[in-house]
Amino acid sequence: MSREFESVEEIFGSNVFNEATMREKLPNNVYKTFKKTISQGQFLDSSLADVVANAMKDWAIEKGATHFCHWFQPMTGFTAEKHDSFISPTTDGRTIMEFSGKELVKGEPDASSFPSGGLRATFEARGYTAWDCTSPVFIKEDGTNITLYIPSAFCSYNAEALDKKTPLLRSMDALNKQTMRVLKAMGNTTTKSVGATLGSEQEYFLVDQSFAERRLDLILAGRTLFGAPSPRGQEMDDHYFGSLHERVASFMHDVNVELWKLGVSAKTQHNEVSPGQYELAPVFATVNVATDHNQLVMETLQKIALRCGFVCLLHEKPFAGVNGSGKHNNWSMSTDDGINLLDPGSTPHENMVFLVMLGAVIKAVDKNAKLLRATVANAGNEHRLGANEAPPAIVSMFLGDELTNILEQIATGKAKSSNSGGELKLGVSALPPLPKDSTDRNRTSPFAFTGNKFEFRMVGSTQSTAGPMFVINTIVADALMEIADELEKSSNLEAAVEKILKKIVNDHSKVIFNGDNYSEDWVKEATKRGLPNIRSTVASLRTILDKENYELFERHKVLTPAELGARTEVLLEAYAMIINIEAKTTLNIAQRQILPVGVEYSGMLANAVNGLATAGVGADTQKKLLNDVCKLVDSLKNGIENLKIGLSKANSIDNSAEKAENYRDVIIPAMDGVRLAADGLEVIVDAEMWPLPTYAEMLFVR
Ligand code: ADP
Ligand code: MG
Repeated sequence: MSREFESVEEIFGSNVFNEATMREKLPNNVYKTFKKTISQGQFLDSSLADVVANAMKDWAIEKGATHFCHWFQPMTGFTAEKHDSFISPTTDGRTIMEFSGKELVKGEPDASSFPSGGLRATFEARGYTAWDCTSPVFIKEDGTNITLYIPSAFCSYNAEALDKKTPLLRSMDALNKQTMRVLKAMGNTTTKSVGATLGSEQEYFLVDQSFAERRLDLILAGRTLFGAPSPRGQEMDDHYFGSLHERVASFMHDVNVELWKLGVSAKTQHNEVSPGQYELAPVFATVNVATDHNQLVMETLQKIALRCGFVCLLHEKPFAGVNGSGKHNNWSMSTDDGINLLDPGSTPHENMVFLVMLGAVIKAVDKNAKLLRATVANAGNEHRLGANEAPPAIVSMFLGDELTNILEQIATGKAKSSNSGGELKLGVSALPPLPKDSTDRNRTSPFAFTGNKFEFRMVGSTQSTAGPMFVINTIVADALMEIADELEKSSNLEAAVEKILKKIVNDHSKVIFNGDNYSEDWVKEATKRGLPNIRSTVASLRTILDKENYELFERHKVLTPAELGARTEVLLEAYAMIINIEAKTTLNIAQRQILPVGVEYSGMLANAVNGLATAGVGADTQKKLLNDVCKLVDSLKNGIENLKIGLSKANSIDNSAEKAENYRDVIIPAMDGVRLAADGLEVIVDAEMWPLPTYAEMLFVR
């Protein structure tokens, strides 16, 4: 635990080879050229790379590092790393510490153990990692091991993307290109580039380690597969924003310090809705760096939790009956000269740019609602989306009444609120002032405008933010491309913008919904509006393969058809694999821990009944209880057999979508059957005998 007295300023970024460090450690001319290379997204030439690598090595060694690794994000959504040491033997039997530009820029891990969705045959196991120099290298301390981390992209021998980062970087280029076209067409002469920004709020649970260690389901599946509800749940609303428990507060302090060193500013932290649930929000960064940061946040939470005697659960639904965890992705676009394009401005012209950007997002989200839904489709999130928990599986947008009103006025050409009562013209004073710092909030919307950014709330807590983000970047780039095509043709900017916005509002305002997304009425209303409501993960993943998505990603050079197909394959396989692990864990716990207790307890009761009969005393209550226990033991045993049969057939299916469907339709219900009987036993069996820590213990003991 780091408790040494250091100021936040001293700690912050101390383990990052950031701009300040680069300026200090690199010769001035190298620093300048290097910065230019990064900002223009070019390749580092080899002599420059050698100088940079050498400075990095010296800096890392000063900090105690002995190894370096290319840190990449395979399609599993987790991170991977291959460590090499700086140590290089000399002919006289000693060693020197070496690190070349080549080693910095490129790595060659054995790729065969990562999913490729069929892109790379195992015999061509070669994969390459390439330094993503837009994300700074950093040092990580794990125990006594200190390593230089190089954020990298990962691709096959044929340069096909095998990771989450490559499409994200490509989508940033696409967004930059199309947004710049629109800005230029609207008269902007100063902006040189546009990037997407992301602030990713992470929800998680903390469970005392002594409980978590006794639950094979938490160890192997990250969620409870058994457990009767706690007599007390989240109904008191006393946990949300409540004061932090001391042990948790210490944990958060240690997490902050660790993250600050890595240049991740953990800004807010508080209790969430469910008991045992918490949230961490960092300060936003460019979407690429923020995606790396979120991976570090997830790793750090888990690492520090163990140090503090907790286990951190990142799963979307670790406990039935209380809220699950998500990851709210706050997304916006900002220019190199510091303009947040989703921030309403103070001049009519700025407002016009804002409305065009807003229009592009509305169009993008409505047109690609199914694709957006698919970016958050995984086995864990299936327990949240549309399964009686927020947010629903329907993609809709919250804009707030004021903005919605203004868009309606634009569509009808009538300014309701303007005193002239005449035509509403953009860019002139008749346009009502746009709401700045909109105060209305809607906590139930899956895609909410929050004043100067959008908050995509459907993302699951375990997910890499790269997937949802590269899709948002791409669909918005696509909408902006069509807008740019129009604007570049037109000779009257205001008239063209008005026409574009009118069309967007008319065609796409069905996706705007400012009401309560959790209500049953909304589900009906959304059906009437023709909005998709896809609850099943597999059904949602299947929609990725629609023809228009292949075209979309190819048009913007984000994914080739082969890459898109491979990615979908990996996601379907992952769904089946996760349920398979859950099912096998269910069997293990049911057969080896719960059934024996049921048998033992019924034996005890039977002895009691016999004993009482011998003593000539009535044993009605004992008999009734024995009867109840035996019924549950029977149904537990039947459930186990049923699940076994299901599992023995499940893996013989070849087609990955059909296999995943079988897991959904056969295996999940079979697991539910086992759990129902087991949870029934839990509430009547002697607490002393029950083998698993209970929901009440895990959720409430701190
Ligand atoms: P909330 O709106 O949830 O009350 P904040 O306004 O502080 O809280 O923002 C929540 C998250 O949004 C934080 O991670 C913050 O860094 C991020 N955020 C703020 N502005 C932007 C932006 N322009 N782009 C992306 N993320 C942003
Ligand atoms: Mg939020």
